[in-house]
Amino acid sequence: MSLSDLPSIFDGHNDLLLRLHQGEPEDAARLFVNGRKAGHLDLPRMREGGFAGGLFAVFVPSPTHRRERKTDVQASAYDEPLPPAMSQAEALPAALSMTAILHRIERESAGALRICRSVADIRAAMAADVIAAVLHFEGAEPIDTDFHALDVFHAAGLRSLGPVWSRPTAYGHGVPFRYPASPDTGAGLTSHGKALVRACNDRRIALDLSHLNERGFWDVARLSDAPLIASHSNAHAICAHSRNLTDDQMRAIRDSGGIAGLNFAVCFLRPDGRDIAATGVDTMLAHLDHMLDIMGPEHVGIGSDFDGALVPEAIGDGAGLAVLRRAMADHGYDALMLARLCRDNWLRTLEATWGE
Ligand code: ZN
Repeated sequence: MSLSDLPSIFDGHNDLLLRLHQGEPEDAARLFVNGRKAGHLDLPRMREGGFAGGLFAVFVPSPTHRRERKTDVQASAYDEPLPPAMSQAEALPAALSMTAILHRIERESAGALRICRSVADIRAAMAADVIAAVLHFEGAEPIDTDFHALDVFHAAGLRSLGPVWSRPTAYGHGVPFRYPASPDTGAGLTSHGKALVRACNDRRIALDLSHLNERGFWDVARLSDAPLIASHSNAHAICAHSRNLTDDQMRAIRDSGGIAGLNFAVCFLRPDGRDIAATGVDTMLAHLDHMLDIMGPEHVGIGSDFDGALVPEAIGDGAGLAVLRRAMADHGYDALMLARLCRDNWLRTLEATWGE
């Protein structure tokens, strides 16, 4: 198959909005459309790589901590302390800024990107060669425990939410950046977290389990009536990082009709857990094969973590999705499998979650 015959990608996670928020927010649409020198994603690189759409994360960084701080790449084991919890008042301005940036891009990009609120919207955008963007929160700090902000952001397009990034919230506890380590690192959901699961179910907002610790994961699995989603998490059996999914967690995702998206962060890919860009695409394929072994062909997708992580040098940035799509075809995945992995599994899971 030629590259143009390979399916384009619907991606489960990127941090472009954070990078634009930290840069020149008022210039976000121009930087998106014309391209920017830094980072992984913009319209030219999305087009080149075959990025058709995805979940666009709002992540509020802690004031005194760098995100997913890089450990010594020579370390064979690490355990980074988590930043302290952040109040809603602290988190809200940045969440408003990043949400507004996505709306500004939609308004000022001459139709290059559309905020999608349904899978019908996503399919229509992709068919028209418009980037299909779904608003997602990575960490529920901007949401008050009365869920007023949940309603307001839902009206602004929010369709997916993770109760935690890694620092603790009113709702639950994330895993620290620890290797080697089990994802079973502490207490499960708080009572507010259990209420958040119900509130999201009621509003048909997807719940993302990628940063949640294992007890929180099982709490959501027990309480939620929606498919289980880990938007950007890999196989713990290959890379024993606290951020990756055990085989038991993957079986629960499969049994719920959900999805796990392959994360390109090298520290979640490499069997040695190190943050080294010299990591082969073969390691990405090994995770896909294991996830397919455990979950079957309908529950694996892509969740790049572009603009939020160090990715393999063979991929480099959004344009490198072409390398992955080509490698997946050369690896022997047939046309049906490629379509499922690249986007169909994501669209089916979101369709079931959103009640279409
Ligand atoms: Zn993340």
